[in-house]
Amino acid sequence: MEELNLDSLIATLSHQYRHIIGEQDETKLSSEKIIEYIVSYYEDILSCMPGNVYWLDKNGVAVGCNRNVLDMFGFKSLMKFKGLKFEEMGRIGNWSPEAIKGFKNDTLEVIETGKSKLNIEEPPIPHRDGRIIFFLTSRVPLFDPTGNVIGVVGISIDITELKNTQAALKKSKEQAEAASLSKSEFVANMSHDVKTPLSGIIGIAELLTYRLNEENLEFAQSLMMSGQKLLNFFDNCLEIFKLENSDIAMVTEHFNLKYLLNEIHDLFQPAIKTKKLAFQIHYDHRIPDYLIGSRAGIYRVLLNLVGNAVKFTHIGFIKISVSLNEKSTQSKALITFIVEDTGIGIAKNKQHIIFDRFTRLIPSYKGTYEGSGIGLYIIHTFVQSMRGEIHVNSEEGKGSQFIVHLPFEISLVNEISPTKLNDLTTINENSENKNHERSRNKKIDALKKTARILLVEDNLTAQLIENALLSSLNCQVDPVDSGEKALEMFSPGKYDLVFLDIGLPGIQGDMVAKLIRKMEHDTEQHVPIIALTAHTSDDANKHYLSMGIENILKKPLSREQAKKIVDYYSL
Ligand code: ADP
Repeated sequence: MEELNLDSLIATLSHQYRHIIGEQDETKLSSEKIIEYIVSYYEDILSCMPGNVYWLDKNGVAVGCNRNVLDMFGFKSLMKFKGLKFEEMGRIGNWSPEAIKGFKNDTLEVIETGKSKLNIEEPPIPHRDGRIIFFLTSRVPLFDPTGNVIGVVGISIDITELKNTQAALKKSKEQAEAASLSKSEFVANMSHDVKTPLSGIIGIAELLTYRLNEENLEFAQSLMMSGQKLLNFFDNCLEIFKLENSDIAMVTEHFNLKYLLNEIHDLFQPAIKTKKLAFQIHYDHRIPDYLIGSRAGIYRVLLNLVGNAVKFTHIGFIKISVSLNEKSTQSKALITFIVEDTGIGIAKNKQHIIFDRFTRLIPSYKGTYEGSGIGLYIIHTFVQSMRGEIHVNSEEGKGSQFIVHLPFEISLVNEISPTKLNDLTTINENSENKNHERSRNKKIDALKKTARILLVEDNLTAQLIENALLSSLNCQVDPVDSGEKALEMFSPGKYDLVFLDIGLPGIQGDMVAKLIRKMEHDTEQHVPIIALTAHTSDDANKHYLSMGIENILKKPLSREQAKKIVDYYSL
């Protein structure tokens, strides 16, 4: 082994550490002095490290630490810290037994395994200045040159401020959530409390239209229409509340755009004809047959734009153009929809406000046009959530063009049948329901027979109205006011149709549907179940369909809807 030459070692060190020796002549310094300078140099660096830095020997006995550790214990010199054991440190620092145990166990584990333990959040400990401190600690083993563990270095970062901020944030989040929940509950209750009597008024008014003489008929009709307008306005306001208080995730599905445009055409054709306007649809035949996207979203957008075009146009035409953008790819169709009219137009300086909520350029007190100034705001939000864009081009007195760009995925599925119940206010407009078809075919045999209907409705006014509507369609109705009674009354084959309220006091409507399907299991019977509900959402509707319900109608049930349902199922 090469003999250790202390003089040359000290010479090398003093050269290497020239910068810490300063102006002194290193050749005149003793080797002890040079080593003392070097050690104190490193101790100084360690002592000003942020956080608490300390190192222990392989028995967990304190060897050294930085200034922050001394401050925490209130020690003036390192000598007070040296030699302390876990329990002694805990006693001096007034730590909880849990904190001492955690410190000891983690340190011994690092010594035993030779593996670091990083970023461990420790139980809080008191500082001598009275604060309670939270530390995030990493403990790393120290090795001798032969690889044996000779101790541990611990680095603890004070995360008290972060913890306090986190706790404050959590508290405010909880408070905000509680406030939002009570707001949502309030709106849900109010919605129910307003809509139920309003639906009653509309329903009774509609019933009266079938019973009153010519003279009084108009009163009932105008009562019904006013109620309907109020209900629509209320629904729009609720929709805004929903849009502003939850993330709208548009449900995507496979759909055929051509069918959707046909629906829009059929829906507006009578109104457009009455106003003696021309109606054109230009469809770019390069558009793939089936797309994936929010069918409900695009339907809503077109409904609103074409509705406005009809409302604000008195002479000329309304045109819907749908074209495929050149930037489309094999898998993505970028589609541009233009709804154009030759109506009253929108002044240039007003075009930027029409997408704001409650904006109406011609106020309601002028009585010229009906509306609530909400539609464009809602569809603007819809278009944004579908990652699209909407713009307006318009000239006062000449007409308007609303341009919507929307991206869709191209679907490879090619077998979606067109909707048959398309003009019902049903959510299941485009669903393919095999049971639906099955029951329809079977019901063809029941033609001309008086239809037997089980009507499940707990609200007695609504029950009275629905019963009267269905009875006026020559149906034989068994009304019940609970799910339990419905299940008692029901047996497979007994009814041709079930109208089922979802919000029932005991067993809920969706469960009643499931139990009916269970009763029919192993029989040839399959009764169409039509849900009646005031609250619809894509998720809820999917759930209802999965429970065996064929179709979902938004309350209140109108005679027209009831007739369509009864006709559709060939009762
Ligand atoms: P509403 O039609 O219920 O008032 P919208 O949000 O759909 O609410 O429209 C806001 C306003 O924008 C309308 O009140 C009208 O002043 C103007 N507007 C919308 N579409 C047209 C259009 N096609 N022609 C002329 N003005 C329009």
